Amino acid sequence: MPNSLSHNQNWRLHKAAMYACRAFCEVRGPKTMRKLHRFLFPCIFTLAFSPQLYGANTLIKNVLVYDGSGKQPFKADVRIKGDRIIAIGKSLSVDPGETVRDEHGLALAPGFIDMHSHHDRGLFEDLDAEAVTRQGVTTIFVGQDGESNFPLADFYSHFEKTPAAINVASMIGHATLRQQIMGKDLYRAAQPDEIKRMQDLLGRELQAGGFGLSSGLEYEDGHFATTAEMIELSKVAGSHGGFYISHVRDEASKVYDSYQEITRIGLDGKLPVEISHIKLASPTVWHTAPTRMPAVFDQAKSEGVDLKADIYPYQYWASTLRVLVTDRDYFNPQKVEHGLTDNGGPENLRISRYTPDPSLAGKTLDQIAAIWKVTPVEAYMRMIKATQSEIDGGPEQEGVIGKSMSEDDIRWFIAHPRVMFCSDGELHGHHPRGAGAFPRVLGVYVRQEHVLPLEEAIHKMTSMAAEQLGLKDRGRIAEGYIADLVVFDPATVLDQATLEQPEAAPKGIPDVMVSGDWVVSSGKITGTHPGHVIRHAAAN
Ligand SMILES: [Zn+2]
Repeated sequence: MPNSLSHNQNWRLHKAAMYACRAFCEVRGPKTMRKLHRFLFPCIFTLAFSPQLYGANTLIKNVLVYDGSGKQPFKADVRIKGDRIIAIGKSLSVDPGETVRDEHGLALAPGFIDMHSHHDRGLFEDLDAEAVTRQGVTTIFVGQDGESNFPLADFYSHFEKTPAAINVASMIGHATLRQQIMGKDLYRAAQPDEIKRMQDLLGRELQAGGFGLSSGLEYEDGHFATTAEMIELSKVAGSHGGFYISHVRDEASKVYDSYQEITRIGLDGKLPVEISHIKLASPTVWHTAPTRMPAVFDQAKSEGVDLKADIYPYQYWASTLRVLVTDRDYFNPQKVEHGLTDNGGPENLRISRYTPDPSLAGKTLDQIAAIWKVTPVEAYMRMIKATQSEIDGGPEQEGVIGKSMSEDDIRWFIAHPRVMFCSDGELHGHHPRGAGAFPRVLGVYVRQEHVLPLEEAIHKMTSMAAEQLGLKDRGRIAEGYIADLVVFDPATVLDQATLEQPEAAPKGIPDVMVSGDWVVSSGKITGTHPGHVIRHAAAN
């Protein structure tokens, strides 16, 4: 059974008891008050810390603990007080009044950390964040692809005043900085004085608690930045102890050039770097992960660059049609042709949204071309033209899901010790990764395909991610750590979300705890919102 009261409610009850006692004393006068002192205060003290009244202690019994270290799991009971893990041991005796939950041998892991998330979109209205919690994810890392909530201090204070069910941490977006300093004049390299002003702004955002700089160099607002611009900004992030994370400049045929660029940014910017949602997204580079990627990591290591990556476990990505022609030359037939071919061809580009004619959603670009009786290149240009307002900064009107990754490369990345996990998802997006990425790793790649052992997958989802973020008290099941926890069944855990039903909840994850409170309990959303804002250590 879950705690009947959340810790917020407990605290309110505690305060109410204190006020009642004080009011009683004031009514009875000072003499009575003195008499009562000796009697009343020990009572208040006892009550305040009584688990019988407040249910503050939870004992999770009979779990197989994957503690996040990557070591073999062990059987234990785990005791939580407030928002912390206070004891781990075999057959812990039940304290009076303690809430006991017998998990009958299921696995217990630290809550998962999503290293590249867009789940903040819609989180303001949807504080339960069901797509996140049901995956066992307790912390989302947002502000990705060069776009962050600005100013970060406002975003953070919003979720401090109105917490969500999950913890939120953020990067600082490169495109966001550009928009603040360069306005709409973004399709060019920044001038030295603009870089200086962006550095100052970045410094302020880092002080507000951002974890470093994120970029989306394949997107228009970031694409025209030079490597030198990225290095100059990265130096500021590095000097604050932050890191650099990037949706790299080209994820298709020139992807290895992009990996050279990010390594260079790490070297000259003097900071750790991470490749966002790593992929080899063009037939021209398929199947090259085992032969070419070791050299990428080796080169970084030999240069002293801490290079890591994160990945979502799907063969298809989701983005805008515009991303296929990165230099904005959308009506140049040769470039469009190259963009389509380089991303798997028009038969692998499925439109997920198209506001001018919603009936086209679900169709591939070659199907749409056939309906319109034009070539796929012409169909592409027609769709870009019809959504021109989007190019001019209006709301998104189109979306595309592109199948352009090879399964063998995905497996190689998933198994690699420097690759963590992400969803790249949204609460209510068109891509199933938003509700399925983490259980998919556990169900498909760990259990069904034996790509990596469960304890290693858990390590990548928890303590490895916490270490990258510099979080000292999350990502492990250890005494003193914050009780962000997930209970799951290794034999049944599996994603259920598909392109047709992108929000379908996964199986095999009955209980999820954030900061000592259950947010998912026996498979049900509890409606409690104990999530914290997590600021970078340098800001505290
Ligand atoms: Zn991205």
